[in-house]
Amino acid sequence: MAQMYYDKDANPALITDRRVAIIGYGSQGHAHALNLLDSGVPVRVGLREGSASADKARASGLEVSSVADAVRWADLVMLLVPDTTAPTLWREQVAPNLQPGSAVAFAHGFNIRFGLIEPDPSVDVIMIAPKGPGHLLRRTYEEGGGIPSLIAVANDASGRAHDTALAYAWAIGSTRAGVLDTTFAEETETDLFGEQVVLCGGLSQLVRAGFDTLVEAGYQPESAYFECLHELKLIVDLLYEHGLSGMWFSVSETAEYGGLTRGPRIVNDETRAEMRRVLDEIRSGAFASELVDEIAAGRPRFEALRREAREAQIEQVGRDLRAMMPFLASATKLDQVSGG
Ligand code: NDP
Ligand code: MG
Ligand code: MG
Repeated sequence: MAQMYYDKDANPALITDRRVAIIGYGSQGHAHALNLLDSGVPVRVGLREGSASADKARASGLEVSSVADAVRWADLVMLLVPDTTAPTLWREQVAPNLQPGSAVAFAHGFNIRFGLIEPDPSVDVIMIAPKGPGHLLRRTYEEGGGIPSLIAVANDASGRAHDTALAYAWAIGSTRAGVLDTTFAEETETDLFGEQVVLCGGLSQLVRAGFDTLVEAGYQPESAYFECLHELKLIVDLLYEHGLSGMWFSVSETAEYGGLTRGPRIVNDETRAEMRRVLDEIRSGAFASELVDEIAAGRPRFEALRREAREAQIEQVGRDLRAMMPFLASATKLDQVSGG
C-alpha cells in the first residue's frame, strides 16, 4: 500500500507559524479559509474589488482585502479561483506581490502541469488537493472528520515544501482521513480523466441516455426520472460505503444477474477505446489548449452546451419532482458546490 499520512505525521507549526492568503472564496476557498482559521492559522482572504463573496467571508469572521494586499501580507498563497481565471490573476496580481521565500499552493495541478502558470524558482510550489467538493470539506471538518487530500511538490525552494503541504493538509482536516503523495502531473491527469469519463461526463450521459430511452419507448417521464436519476444516490451510497461488491450484495439477484450480463454491453470495448483517446487528449495537452481557446473566445460552444443541458427534458421533469421534496433543498447549498 502507498504511504499514507495522518494527524500524527504532520507538524502543525509549519502552518500555524505562517500567514496564509486564500485567494477566492468559492467552493474550495470558503472551506479552506474557515478550516484554517479554526485550526489556528493566521488567514486572510484576497478578493477582487466589489466581489460578491466578500460579505460572506467577513460575516464568517475572516479578514478580507484586495488580492494584491493579501499576497503582500502572506508568506503562503493558496490560489482558489477558477482554473481558467488563475493565469491572468497570477500574472497581474499575485506574482508581482509575492514576498521572497513564500510558498504558492494549488488545489488542482492544471495550471502548473500545462505550463500556464510558471512561478519563480525561488518560491515553493505545492499542491493540496482535497478529493471532494468544498462544502463537504467544510462540513466534515466541523463534524470532526475530514476529506482525504493528495499533496505534491513542484518546486522545493525551502527544503521543507513537502512538510509544509502536509501541515496545510492537517489544517484543513485532511490528515484525519488520510493524505497521499502524488505529483502535479498525476493529480491533474487523473482528475481530468475522472471528471470527464466517469464522474461528470460519463455519468451525466449515462443518466440522460437511459432516461431518453425509456421516455421514447412511451414510459412516463416521472417514472424514468426516479429510475435513472433519483435512485442513483442510493446506489452511490452503497458504492461509497461498501464498494462494488457491497452494491451487488445489496441489490436483488435479478438486478445482479441483469447488471452483470448487460453492463458490459453498455460500457463495451468501443467505450474503453474512447476512454483511452480521452486520456491521450488530456496527456498531450490538447484538452487544456482547447479549454483555454474556448474561454478566450468567450465560451461560445461551452454556453451552447450548458443551455442544451439545462433545457433537456430530464431537467424540466426533475425540477418539478424535486420541488415536491423540500427535504432535498437543505442537504446541499448549491452556491458552494461549483467545480469538481
Ligand atoms: P470557484 O469557482 O468556486 O471560485 C469562485 C471564487 O473565485 C469566488 O470567490 C470568486 O469571487 C473568485 N474569483 C473568480 N474570478 C476572480 C478574479 N478574477 N479575481 C479574484 N477572485 C476571483 O472555484 P473552486 O473552489 O471550484 O475551484 C478553486 C480551485 O480548487 C480550482 O483550482 C479547482 O480545480 C480546485 N478544486 C475544486 C474543487 C471543488 O470542489 N470545486 C475540488 C478540488 C479542487 P467573486 O465573488 O468576485 O466572483
Ligand atoms: Mg476531481
Ligand atoms: Mg477537477
